[in-house]
Amino acid sequence: MLFNTMKPFLGLFLFATAFAATAQTGRFQQAVKYKMDVQMDVQSNQFTGTQELKYTNNSPDTLTRVFYHLYFNAFQPGSMMDVRSRTISDPDKRVGERISKLKPNEIGYLHAKSLKMNGKTVQFKEVETILEVDLAEPILPNSTVTLEMEFEGQVPIQIRRSGRDNAEGVRYSMAQWYPKMANYDEQGWHANPYIGREFYGIWGDFDVKITIDKTYILGGTGYLENADQIGYGYEEAGDKVAPPKGKTLTWHFVAPKVHDFMWAADPKFKHDKIVMDNGITVHHLYIPGEKTTSVWERLAEYTPKAINYLSEHFGQYPYKQFSVIQGGDGGMEYDMSTLITGERPLNSLVGVMVHELAHSWFRGVLSSNEALYPWMDEGFTSYASDLAMSEIFQRSNNPGRASYSGYFRLVKSGFEEPLSTHADHYQLNSAYSAASYSKGAVFLSQLGYVIGEEARDRGMLRYFDTWKFRHPNANDLIRVMEKESGMELDWYKEYFVYTTKTINYGIKEVKPDGANTVITLERTGLMPMPVDLVVTYKDGSSEMIYLPLVIMRGEKPAEKGMPERIHTEAWPWTNLTKTLVLTREFKTIKSVEIDPSRRMADVDHENNKVEF
Ligand SMILES: [Zn+2]
Repeated sequence: MLFNTMKPFLGLFLFATAFAATAQTGRFQQAVKYKMDVQMDVQSNQFTGTQELKYTNNSPDTLTRVFYHLYFNAFQPGSMMDVRSRTISDPDKRVGERISKLKPNEIGYLHAKSLKMNGKTVQFKEVETILEVDLAEPILPNSTVTLEMEFEGQVPIQIRRSGRDNAEGVRYSMAQWYPKMANYDEQGWHANPYIGREFYGIWGDFDVKITIDKTYILGGTGYLENADQIGYGYEEAGDKVAPPKGKTLTWHFVAPKVHDFMWAADPKFKHDKIVMDNGITVHHLYIPGEKTTSVWERLAEYTPKAINYLSEHFGQYPYKQFSVIQGGDGGMEYDMSTLITGERPLNSLVGVMVHELAHSWFRGVLSSNEALYPWMDEGFTSYASDLAMSEIFQRSNNPGRASYSGYFRLVKSGFEEPLSTHADHYQLNSAYSAASYSKGAVFLSQLGYVIGEEARDRGMLRYFDTWKFRHPNANDLIRVMEKESGMELDWYKEYFVYTTKTINYGIKEVKPDGANTVITLERTGLMPMPVDLVVTYKDGSSEMIYLPLVIMRGEKPAEKGMPERIHTEAWPWTNLTKTLVLTREFKTIKSVEIDPSRRMADVDHENNKVEF
């Protein structure tokens, strides 16, 4: 409409197109403000709600359609999630054939009953887990509209992530439970049907009221606004709680700057509250019992420690609250909270808590699209949580080694697909997991080998600072690392993310040449890498020969704890062999080894070392 009225005025028209073209190359963030009022019936497990959504279109595009996620509709026989989990050759055991056998009172559903935009009714069509909405009037760039919806739902039996009555008897794990606007970004709409993998959302403010039987204790995303009416340990110490009369309580939560809202509820929950020195409040909610109470009490020591460690190394945790809640089907991360199964020995409970907490940085605050870049969430989270666990439990083992092993197994399996594969579209679940978790973690560990650990560590803080609340992609990360290291790293991203080419370097020959020794190295893998070559002498001393790639246009600084660097010489990736002349006698050499630190993901270590 704006376009047409401007068309006759040539000057303005040219200006408008030029402006639009610039804007289209840039990045923008849509914005949301949800206000929801939900009535939960704990007998039928059904709920009704109203949703007022203020949606701001910060894109340069005029939107004529919008899409909502209706995730609960996946838990119905014949759904895409059901079919996929019955046809994939390595199904998730938690799903398997279970969806196909759900009875009408066990399925999940979420339906829009009515929808208005700016007070006018709009048409919509439910296509399983996506609500397709054709707008009567378009949403113009830089404008805000109000969408009002009435919805109704039924909580499915716990199958995957959310649901009721999980294996440990938690009544409600309410994740992906409300009609959620799909994200629209510089790559267009992301109306992914719910097949199994994870999420992508829009940051905004949530104001959520949940009315439920008054015996239920809740926790989740968001600060409780009416603790003086609710109690259950949410009130300030010494405050008097005055619950309203009646059979229900209305819990009022607000959550600023989040992109999802989870809640969980059970009448048996015990609520422990830990206030940290920095003002962050940690909430633990669990069902007391033989397998839980003592370990959950001890968890109180670990959650604050992990928040501090991760804040120091990956950027300050930006919220005033974090809740660890027993629920779900393993461990799943949400904004300001996590749902984890709770009947675990201490190290497992701490391990899963730390992993899900670490997601607060990568899924929560950075929030790379998990459908397109699951490795930037799961991989980086695995990397960070390995480091945190190592620190918390003072482990001397090398954190991250398991990720390398997982990646090597994936390569050997023959089922590896590039990290750039859409999370739902991997042929195998195991290939998705090994790529996202293991190869994604190796991406960062190995980056420390390429640019040096200090530049990588500074880079992670800079990455958080630059891209928090902005949905970075692989290129955004690599650009930060380029700036931090002063090197060109496009080749690293292109080989490791977009291909399945592997690294294999070897020592071809070491031979005497008069008073010198000639070393010949070879590259048999298709992915080129810089090489750290360490020569150890019979007198116990050792030296480093550093061979950066020409295309790096730089070198990593000498690293602490490494032998002294005696020689640096670039190795062009086109050359399959490299010959070096060492001005030392052959008989003085004890061993020659490529990357003794083993941070380079060389798929065959057999040919990396020769000893004399
Ligand atoms: Zn994870």
